[in-house]
Amino acid sequence: MGIASINPATNETFATFEPLKAAEIEQKLQRAAAAFAINRARSFAERARRMRRAAEILDERANELAKTITLEMGKPIKAAVAEVQKCANVCRFYAEHAEGYLAEEHVATDAEESYVRFDPLGVILAVMPWNFPFWQVFRFAAPALMAGNAGLLKHASNVPQSALAIEEILVAAGFTDGEFQTLLIGAEQVAALLDDDRVKAATLTGSEAAGASVAAGAAKQIKKSVLELGGSDPFVVMPSANLDAAVKTGIKARIVNNGQSCIAAKRFILHEDVADEFEKRFVAAMEALKIGDPLDESVDVGPMAMPQIVKDLEQQVSASVAAGAKVLTGGKRLGDQGNFFAPTVLRDIPTSAPVFGEETFGPVASLFRVKSVAEAVTLANATEFGLGASVWTNNAAEADRFIADIESGLVFVNAMVASDPRIPFGGVKKSGFGRELGGYGIREFVNIKTVWIARPLSS
Ligand code: NAP
Repeated sequence: MGIASINPATNETFATFEPLKAAEIEQKLQRAAAAFAINRARSFAERARRMRRAAEILDERANELAKTITLEMGKPIKAAVAEVQKCANVCRFYAEHAEGYLAEEHVATDAEESYVRFDPLGVILAVMPWNFPFWQVFRFAAPALMAGNAGLLKHASNVPQSALAIEEILVAAGFTDGEFQTLLIGAEQVAALLDDDRVKAATLTGSEAAGASVAAGAAKQIKKSVLELGGSDPFVVMPSANLDAAVKTGIKARIVNNGQSCIAAKRFILHEDVADEFEKRFVAAMEALKIGDPLDESVDVGPMAMPQIVKDLEQQVSASVAAGAKVLTGGKRLGDQGNFFAPTVLRDIPTSAPVFGEETFGPVASLFRVKSVAEAVTLANATEFGLGASVWTNNAAEADRFIADIESGLVFVNAMVASDPRIPFGGVKKSGFGRELGGYGIREFVNIKTVWIARPLSS
């Protein structure tokens, strides 16, 4: 495919880019290594001033940047505007809190003085996906730069204009010396970067295969990595739940980002006492969604980002039907232009069906029925992923059981799973390791340095 902007609503290519050559990458690496010394020497206040300026620029340019996002990957324009604003928010958040999160921690020991300090690591490579082309990058860049690191971005090959715009914004905000640079390169050019001594660590958000490859490349050189991978999040509805809210939020949680979100609700686990009613209302609401041009403000679901995603969904649904699943609505591509897929609901899903075990990266909801909390927990955990879980109940004991027993990085009760700068985000099992956001996120790419001073020092 190469590095190109292709409108998923029409499949028209509107910009193409040549991948950087080895000499160009070398120049950027040299610049990044030098920039680390500059950003590291800055005070938190100096970095924060720049980060706040980045937030202002994002807010000022939100509509224009949102259009770039929508044209490159197809999310509804309203969601794209909200994404850019969320990036402004994470910049402001870390501008305010980085210093506190990274303040020295004094510990009482046998020493005269002992403490932990948090030093930046150096140049960090971020390999990022197209589904939230701005948010995924800023939730890495804001804490990493505020901690004093330098960043190199290898963005997904279908969002090059978003990638370039992000660098432009951070430069305009004052990170002018190469503290953050975009590398327009293909996936096959990542291994050499991981081998380079100037790159100290890597973070990847994306698929399992890409994550395994980047983590292996980093491990080979004894470098730290953080992985934010896929998910097949359960959405559990128990009899005491507020059904109106559960249905309304369940729809939103499934179709967020045209269904292409790692934390979208993918498997709906319904207690048998409410399953019929939930199913009836859920199917009606899926059928009422407006599908179409993502630049139209009234559209709920736009096209899938790439033709391959439609093919994958068709394949997952048809193989699941062949295994015995029943389609309640949708189940097929829509129209002959662009990558549209009908909002789809499946039930009676056997364990052998692809939608039972695989991530469905599009508007395909799988409904399951259970008789008890224990059965709901078992089914929720019957996946190789462990990113988020949403549970709907008004019973405190039931909620406690789900919170304790579901194997995931996030559990939301009576709410849809979402990321928020204030709380850590990440998964277990094949959903990855490490955390982004909050205090845990900013401490991923620092040297947690122990200092022990045995006796009083003369001044
Ligand atoms: P992807 O194909 O893995 O691509 C992600 C990034 O990795 C892209 O920049 C891609 O570059 C690069 N890449 C692919 N293979 C690579 C390799 N072998 N070595 C180095 N880099 C490689 O994933 P995607 O299809 O864009 O994104 C969808 C996946 O991301 C889903 O599974 C979703 O659940 C997951 N995701 C997870 C989170 C989270 O926070 N946990 C958030 C969003 C998405 P090219 O584009 O050049 O191939």
